[in-house]
Amino acid sequence: MAKYTLPSLPYAYGALEPHIAREIMELHHSKHHQAYVNGANAALEKLEQARKNNFQGVDVRAIERDLSFHLSGHILHSIFWPNMKPSGGGKPGGMLADMINSSFGSFDSFKAQFTETAKSVEGIGWAMLVYEPSSDQLLTLNIEKHNMQAAHGTVPLLVLDVWEHAYYLQYKNDRASYINAWWNVVNWDDAEDRLRKAKR
Ligand code: MN
Repeated sequence: MAKYTLPSLPYAYGALEPHIAREIMELHHSKHHQAYVNGANAALEKLEQARKNNFQGVDVRAIERDLSFHLSGHILHSIFWPNMKPSGGGKPGGMLADMINSSFGSFDSFKAQFTETAKSVEGIGWAMLVYEPSSDQLLTLNIEKHNMQAAHGTVPLLVLDVWEHAYYLQYKNDRASYINAWWNVVNWDDAEDRLRKAKR
Protein backbone atom coordinates (compact mmCIF):
# COMPACT_ATOMS: atom_id res chain seq x y z
CA MET A 1 0.00 0.00 0.00
CA ALA A 2 1.46 3.33 -1.04
CA LYS A 3 1.53 6.06 1.59
CA TYR A 4 0.73 9.70 0.94
CA THR A 5 3.31 12.26 2.04
CA LEU A 6 3.27 16.03 2.54
CA PRO A 7 5.00 17.78 -0.39
CA SER A 8 7.31 20.65 0.51
CA LEU A 9 6.36 24.16 -0.51
CA PRO A 10 8.18 25.49 -3.60
CA TYR A 11 8.88 28.76 -1.72
CA ALA A 12 9.34 29.99 1.87
CA TYR A 13 6.30 30.35 4.15
CA GLY A 14 6.62 34.15 4.08
CA ALA A 15 7.20 34.41 0.33
CA LEU A 16 3.60 35.31 -0.58
CA GLU A 17 3.42 38.30 1.76
CA PRO A 18 1.80 40.79 1.87
CA HIS A 19 -0.98 38.92 0.04
CA ILE A 20 -0.96 35.80 2.22
CA ALA A 21 0.62 36.05 5.67
CA ARG A 22 3.48 33.78 6.70
CA GLU A 23 1.55 32.51 9.73
CA ILE A 24 -1.35 31.39 7.53
CA MET A 25 0.94 29.58 5.12
CA GLU A 26 2.83 27.78 7.88
CA LEU A 27 -0.28 26.57 9.70
CA HIS A 28 -2.08 25.76 6.47
CA HIS A 29 0.75 23.65 5.09
CA SER A 30 2.28 22.06 8.20
CA LYS A 31 -0.95 21.45 10.14
CA HIS A 32 -3.98 21.43 7.86
CA HIS A 33 -2.47 19.78 4.79
CA GLN A 34 -0.58 17.32 7.00
CA ALA A 35 -3.90 16.35 8.62
CA TYR A 36 -5.36 15.43 5.21
CA VAL A 37 -2.28 13.34 4.40
CA ASN A 38 -2.66 11.55 7.74
CA GLY A 39 -6.40 11.10 7.24
CA ALA A 40 -5.98 9.55 3.79
CA ASN A 41 -3.33 7.14 5.09
CA ALA A 42 -5.49 6.23 8.08
CA ALA A 43 -8.44 5.40 5.82
CA LEU A 44 -6.27 3.15 3.67
CA GLU A 45 -4.93 1.40 6.78
CA LYS A 46 -8.48 0.82 8.02
CA LEU A 47 -9.44 -0.74 4.69
CA GLU A 48 -6.35 -2.95 4.75
CA GLN A 49 -7.28 -4.12 8.23
CA ALA A 50 -10.90 -4.62 7.18
CA ARG A 51 -9.85 -6.86 4.28
CA LYS A 52 -7.91 -9.04 6.72
CA ASN A 53 -11.01 -9.32 8.91
CA ASN A 54 -13.35 -10.02 5.97
CA PHE A 55 -15.15 -6.74 6.71
CA GLN A 56 -16.75 -8.07 9.87
CA GLY A 57 -18.24 -5.17 11.85
CA VAL A 58 -16.63 -2.58 9.58
CA ASP A 59 -18.44 0.59 8.46
CA VAL A 60 -16.99 0.64 4.94
CA ARG A 61 -19.14 3.59 3.89
CA ALA A 62 -17.70 5.75 6.69
CA ILE A 63 -14.13 4.79 5.77
CA GLU A 64 -14.71 5.48 2.07
CA ARG A 65 -16.21 8.84 2.98
CA ASP A 66 -13.08 9.66 5.01
CA LEU A 67 -10.88 8.53 2.13
CA SER A 68 -12.69 10.74 -0.39
CA PHE A 69 -12.54 13.77 1.92
CA HIS A 70 -8.93 13.49 3.08
CA LEU A 71 -7.45 12.33 -0.22
CA SER A 72 -9.27 15.12 -2.10
CA GLY A 73 -7.94 17.59 0.48
CA HIS A 74 -4.41 16.28 0.01
CA ILE A 75 -4.60 16.43 -3.79
CA LEU A 76 -6.12 19.92 -3.92
CA HIS A 77 -3.57 21.40 -1.49
CA SER A 78 -0.76 19.73 -3.47
CA ILE A 79 -1.99 21.72 -6.51
CA PHE A 80 -2.76 24.90 -4.56
CA TRP A 81 0.85 25.48 -3.39
CA PRO A 82 2.58 25.43 -6.81
CA ASN A 83 -0.42 27.29 -8.30
CA MET A 84 0.98 30.29 -6.40
CA LYS A 85 4.34 32.07 -6.47
CA PRO A 86 5.91 35.29 -5.22
CA SER A 87 5.46 38.11 -7.75
CA GLY A 88 2.84 36.09 -9.61
CA GLY A 89 -0.41 37.42 -10.98
CA GLY A 90 -0.95 39.22 -14.25
CA LYS A 91 -2.45 37.25 -17.08
CA PRO A 92 -1.74 33.84 -18.61
CA GLY A 93 -0.21 33.49 -22.05
CA GLY A 94 0.03 30.82 -24.72
CA MET A 95 -2.30 27.84 -24.89
CA LEU A 96 -3.96 28.62 -21.56
CA ALA A 97 -4.82 32.17 -22.62
CA ASP A 98 -6.29 30.84 -25.89
CA MET A 99 -8.44 28.24 -24.10
CA ILE A 100 -9.63 30.77 -21.52
CA ASN A 101 -10.71 33.06 -24.34
CA SER A 102 -12.52 30.30 -26.25
CA SER A 103 -14.17 28.87 -23.12
CA PHE A 104 -15.18 32.07 -21.31
CA GLY A 105 -15.08 34.81 -23.96
CA SER A 106 -12.20 36.77 -22.48
CA PHE A 107 -9.74 36.74 -19.59
CA ASP A 108 -11.76 39.37 -17.75
CA SER A 109 -14.94 37.29 -18.09
CA PHE A 110 -13.11 34.24 -16.78
CA LYS A 111 -11.67 36.22 -13.86
CA ALA A 112 -15.12 37.54 -12.97
CA GLN A 113 -16.66 34.04 -13.15
CA PHE A 114 -13.89 32.43 -11.09
CA THR A 115 -14.12 35.22 -8.49
CA GLU A 116 -17.90 34.82 -8.21
CA THR A 117 -17.48 31.05 -7.98
CA ALA A 118 -15.02 31.45 -5.10
CA LYS A 119 -17.14 34.05 -3.30
CA SER A 120 -20.26 31.90 -3.60
CA VAL A 121 -18.86 28.67 -2.13
CA GLU A 122 -21.29 27.83 0.63
CA GLY A 123 -19.41 27.42 3.91
CA ILE A 124 -16.06 25.80 3.14
CA GLY A 125 -14.59 24.70 -0.17
CA TRP A 126 -12.73 25.62 -3.31
CA ALA A 127 -13.07 27.37 -6.64
CA MET A 128 -11.46 25.44 -9.47
CA LEU A 129 -10.55 26.02 -13.10
CA VAL A 130 -10.53 22.62 -14.75
CA TYR A 131 -9.92 21.08 -18.16
CA GLU A 132 -12.82 18.89 -19.29
CA PRO A 133 -11.42 16.37 -21.81
CA SER A 134 -14.64 15.10 -23.44
CA SER A 135 -15.55 18.61 -24.64
CA ASP A 136 -11.96 19.92 -24.83
CA GLN A 137 -12.89 23.07 -22.93
CA LEU A 138 -12.28 24.76 -19.60
CA LEU A 139 -14.89 24.95 -16.84
CA THR A 140 -15.13 26.45 -13.36
CA LEU A 141 -16.33 24.33 -10.45
CA ASN A 142 -17.73 25.35 -7.06
CA ILE A 143 -16.49 22.67 -4.65
CA GLU A 144 -17.89 22.23 -1.15
CA LYS A 145 -15.52 20.72 1.44
CA HIS A 146 -12.83 19.13 -0.79
CA ASN A 147 -14.89 16.67 -2.75
CA MET A 148 -18.54 17.70 -3.18
CA GLN A 149 -19.80 19.05 -6.52
CA ALA A 150 -16.73 17.77 -8.35
CA ALA A 151 -17.07 16.64 -11.98
CA HIS A 152 -15.49 13.29 -12.80
CA GLY A 153 -12.68 13.18 -15.32
CA THR A 154 -11.86 16.87 -15.15
CA VAL A 155 -8.26 17.94 -14.56
CA PRO A 156 -7.62 20.78 -12.08
CA LEU A 157 -5.51 23.60 -13.52
CA LEU A 158 -5.97 26.37 -10.95
CA VAL A 159 -7.50 25.92 -7.50
CA LEU A 160 -8.34 28.43 -4.77
CA ASP A 161 -8.87 27.37 -1.18
CA VAL A 162 -11.69 29.38 0.43
CA TRP A 163 -11.84 27.50 3.71
CA GLU A 164 -11.59 30.01 6.56
CA HIS A 165 -8.23 28.47 7.58
CA ALA A 166 -6.86 29.88 4.30
CA TYR A 167 -7.54 33.53 5.16
CA TYR A 168 -9.20 34.18 8.52
CA LEU A 169 -6.04 35.12 10.49
CA GLN A 170 -5.36 37.94 7.98
CA TYR A 171 -8.69 38.82 6.37
CA LYS A 172 -11.16 37.79 9.11
CA ASN A 173 -14.54 37.16 7.43
CA ASP A 174 -13.67 39.23 4.32
CA ARG A 175 -13.35 36.43 1.79
CA ALA A 176 -13.68 38.86 -1.13
CA SER A 177 -10.53 40.77 -0.12
CA TYR A 178 -8.60 37.51 0.21
CA ILE A 179 -9.71 36.48 -3.29
CA ASN A 180 -8.68 39.86 -4.72
CA ALA A 181 -5.25 39.55 -3.08
CA TRP A 182 -4.82 35.96 -4.27
CA TRP A 183 -4.93 37.03 -7.93
CA ASN A 184 -1.55 38.73 -7.26
CA VAL A 185 0.17 35.43 -6.48
CA VAL A 186 -1.28 33.20 -9.21
CA ASN A 187 1.39 31.15 -10.99
CA TRP A 188 0.04 31.04 -14.54
CA ASP A 189 3.03 29.04 -15.80
CA ASP A 190 2.09 26.21 -13.43
CA ALA A 191 -1.55 26.30 -14.56
CA GLU A 192 -0.51 26.19 -18.22
CA ASP A 193 1.87 23.33 -17.55
CA ARG A 194 -1.04 21.36 -16.08
CA LEU A 195 -3.13 22.09 -19.19
CA ARG A 196 -0.35 20.89 -21.52
CA LYS A 197 -0.01 17.63 -19.58
CA ALA A 198 -3.79 17.14 -19.52
CA LYS A 199 -4.09 17.57 -23.29
CA ARG A 200 -1.17 15.27 -24.07
MN1 MN B 1 -6.88 24.42 3.05
